[in-house]
Amino acid sequence: MTAVLQRSLSQRSPLALRGEGPMLVLADGRRIVDASGGAAVACIGHGDARVIQAMTHQAARLAYAHTGFFTSEPAEALAEKLVGHRPGGLSRALFVSSGSEAMEAALKLARQYFVERGEPGRVHAIARRQSYHGATLAALGVGGHRARRALYEALLPVHVSHVSPCFAFHHRRADEDDAAYVARLALELDAEFQRVGPHRVMAFCAETVVGATTGCVAAVPGYFAAMRAVCERYGALLILDEVMCGLGRTGVPHAWEADGVAPDIQTIGKGLGGGYQPIGAVLVGERVVHALWRGSAAFSHGQTYQAHPVACAAALAVQTIVEAEGLIARSRDLGERLQTNLRAALSEHPHVADVRGRGLFVGVEFLADRAARCPFAASDGVAERVKNAALDAGVGVYPGSGTIDGVVGDHVLIAPPFNVPESLVDEIADKFAKAVASAFERVS
Ligand code: PLP
Repeated sequence: MTAVLQRSLSQRSPLALRGEGPMLVLADGRRIVDASGGAAVACIGHGDARVIQAMTHQAARLAYAHTGFFTSEPAEALAEKLVGHRPGGLSRALFVSSGSEAMEAALKLARQYFVERGEPGRVHAIARRQSYHGATLAALGVGGHRARRALYEALLPVHVSHVSPCFAFHHRRADEDDAAYVARLALELDAEFQRVGPHRVMAFCAETVVGATTGCVAAVPGYFAAMRAVCERYGALLILDEVMCGLGRTGVPHAWEADGVAPDIQTIGKGLGGGYQPIGAVLVGERVVHALWRGSAAFSHGQTYQAHPVACAAALAVQTIVEAEGLIARSRDLGERLQTNLRAALSEHPHVADVRGRGLFVGVEFLADRAARCPFAASDGVAERVKNAALDAGVGVYPGSGTIDGVVGDHVLIAPPFNVPESLVDEIADKFAKAVASAFERVS
């Protein structure tokens, strides 16, 4: 047993000892390809001496200074790197310690924006079913991940409602093209604004490419433009959660660039520090910054470890490496290679329903009946079995939450570091395909 309170109280997880580039070395001697980077966290692999040096240097120079009184060199440099060129009009960055905290701060920022504009009645967030925005209460409450919400439902914020996600593979009707599907979703969002009361809604929240709930699901062309138009119609903000899919994971700097629609507020996390330090951020658009500037000129939010200098130094080093080594283009190209390989190896498998994603953000979905789009029972634990079989084959992948809403199937997420060697991309696809075969031998 262990004194660490892990997810399973009865089982001890394997002991991870070292990280070496794309590999994890376990105490029992096994070397595992970290093919999901945790959950799309490790974007430059493990043990990079340049990041370690930047952290060590910063820890020795200044490990901590309270952001209520001071700013720091690495925080300023990191903010400059992220928003100095004002991507999509985003012009300020707030640094916190996780993606959940970033979502909490984003919601508070939206609320403060409307209070300062003299619209205190705007308290409601509309988000999407089949979404995940974090584990803290407000972030969990905005998310539509039913299984993760269930136990805490009584504690979750009440001013939240959910509309359909954009998931063409499962939810677009046979007689619809992309335009008709988008029009239907826009009507649904519009109707939800009307139901709640247009002047009560502060924001529409969405993951640009959905990660943990359904496995790397990008919207169809035109979707975000249509959702943005509905938000504009009613004066609400668009909050895009790129905690998992942001910062090059999908082959572009911000995932929204592929959809051509910038948010008013954006959250980022995992790949920001690449796992070297816990850090997330909120990127804030000029519309919101100006409203606060003209109002109280302060964001009413503070946390002890906000903009932690060592975390910012680590993230700055990671982002500098991503930029200097052209790793975002590599994520795009290797992602295509990974998807091609996976499709070639798995397309004949009767239970592999879909291989999808953008860049090195790849999801594989499993269904009991591909043609009928019928999922396995949750009790079959298919995603977990595939994950375990892959781990036995030496490849770490991230399992999705199993059957959702009785429609969407199990999935796993594959998201290796952007600098993974090409040969290892091929090896991941090969070993994963064999693991899928062996997992289903055990299921049937
Ligand atoms: N938002 C998205 C899209 C996520 O995938 C996650 C984590 O998986 C979060 C927010 C929460 O981030 P964290 O686990 O760092 O708090």
